[in-house]
Amino acid sequence: MNNKNNKIYCSFCNNKKKKNKIIIYKNKYACKKCIIFFKKNNNNNKYIIFNTNKKKPKNIKKVLDKYIIDQNKAKKILSTTIYNHYKLINNINKKYIYNWNKSNILLVGPTGSGKTLLAETIERKFNIPIVITDATTLTQAGYVGEDVENIIYKLLQKCNFDINQTENGIIFIDEIDKISKKSYNPSITRDVSGEGVQQSLLKIIEGTISYIPPKGGRKHPEENYIPINTKNILFICSGTFNGINKIINNRLNNNIIGFNCNKNYKNNYKYKIEPEDLIKFGFIPEFIGRLPIIINLKELNKKSLRKILTEPKNSIIKYYKYLFKLENIKLKFTEKSLDKIVNKTFNKKTGARGLKNIIENILENVMYFSPSKKNIKKIIINDETINNNKPTIIFK
Ligand code: ADP
Repeated sequence: MNNKNNKIYCSFCNNKKKKNKIIIYKNKYACKKCIIFFKKNNNNNKYIIFNTNKKKPKNIKKVLDKYIIDQNKAKKILSTTIYNHYKLINNINKKYIYNWNKSNILLVGPTGSGKTLLAETIERKFNIPIVITDATTLTQAGYVGEDVENIIYKLLQKCNFDINQTENGIIFIDEIDKISKKSYNPSITRDVSGEGVQQSLLKIIEGTISYIPPKGGRKHPEENYIPINTKNILFICSGTFNGINKIINNRLNNNIIGFNCNKNYKNNYKYKIEPEDLIKFGFIPEFIGRLPIIINLKELNKKSLRKILTEPKNSIIKYYKYLFKLENIKLKFTEKSLDKIVNKTFNKKTGARGLKNIIENILENVMYFSPSKKNIKKIIINDETINNNKPTIIFK
C-alpha cells in the first residue's frame, strides 16, 4: 500500500484515489467502485466462519458417521484437524499464537473409498467453503492449462467474492499423485517433470499473497487484481498413489534385515505411509513437508459396501426409493438383490463408485417409462433382476 500526495492506492483495483474516497474494508483499503462490486456479490453468502465453541472434534465425527461408512481413523483425524485449524484461526489475534504452520492433510486410499465424500460432507454439514479440484488439470504458470492460482479464484467465486471467507476456506485437490515427478499423464500439457506444478502449488500452500484476476482465467497486465492471502487456507490433497506399496515394502524389508525379506505387501493401504515414501514416489521434500498429516483410507470390503447401500442418511437406496415415491410408486429391493449388487461392485474394484452405476443400469428403463404410466403400484428388484435388468412390475 502506497501513500503519495494525500492519495491512497485501493488494495483491490490498485487505482490511486483521494484519501477521503477510500474506506477500510475487511482490513484493506477499498475505493467506492470496488465496494459496490463486493457488496453486489456478497449477498446471499451462506458460509460462516466455523465456530469451534459449539462443535468439538467428537461432534464433527458424529456428523461424518451419519454419511460415511467405516474409515473411522480418517474421520477422527480429519475432525480433529478441522477443529484445530479453525480454533487457531479464531484465536489468531492472541499474541501467543505466532507463526503457526497449518496442518494440511494428505488422504491416501483407493478409488471410491470416500476421500471426496469426506470433503463434500464437511462443506455441506458445516458450511465451510470448500473447493474440490483436480491436480491433473493444473499447470505451472505460463503453460497451457489451468494456472494453480485459478483454484483460489474458484474459492473466491464460491465465497461470493467475500475475501475474509476465501482466506479461511479449504481447497481439496484430488489426484495429487498425478503431479509426482515420475507420473506420466499424456493428456495434459505441463512441465515434463511435474516438479514445476509442485513448486507452484507449494507457494500457495505455504502462504502467499496471490493476486487473482476478478474474472478468473489468465492474467492480463492491464487488469486489476484481488489480493488473497493464502496463509490460512487449509489444503487437503488426495490420491490413490498406485505403486506406493512397493516403496513401503522396500523400506520395511530394509528395516528388518533378515526377517520376512521376501514377504509381499499387498496393495491394501494398511501400512503407514512415511514422508520418505512420498519423496521416493516423486514429490519434492518441501511439498511433502507442507502436508504433515497423512491419512490412509482402507479399501472397502463387501460388508462396508452393503452398509453403504442402505445405512447413510442419504444412502443410494433411500435416494432411489424417494425418487419413485414422488411418482407414488413403491420401490423394493430384496435382501438377495442387495447382496448381488455388492458382489458385482466388489469385483469391479472401483470401491463404492460402482454401486450407483449398477443400480442406475437396473432402473434405467423403469425410470424412463414409469412417470408416464398411472397404474404402476410397485417395482421389485430381486436377485434375478441384477442379471437381466428387468424389474418385476406390479400394477394397481
Ligand atoms: P474417492 O475416494 O475416489 O474420492 P468418493 O468419495 O468420490 O471416492 O466416492 C464415490 C461415491 O461412493 C460417493 O459419492 C459415495 O456415494 C460412495 N462412497 C464412497 N466411500 C464411501 C463411504 N466410506 N461411505 C459411504 N459412501 C461412500
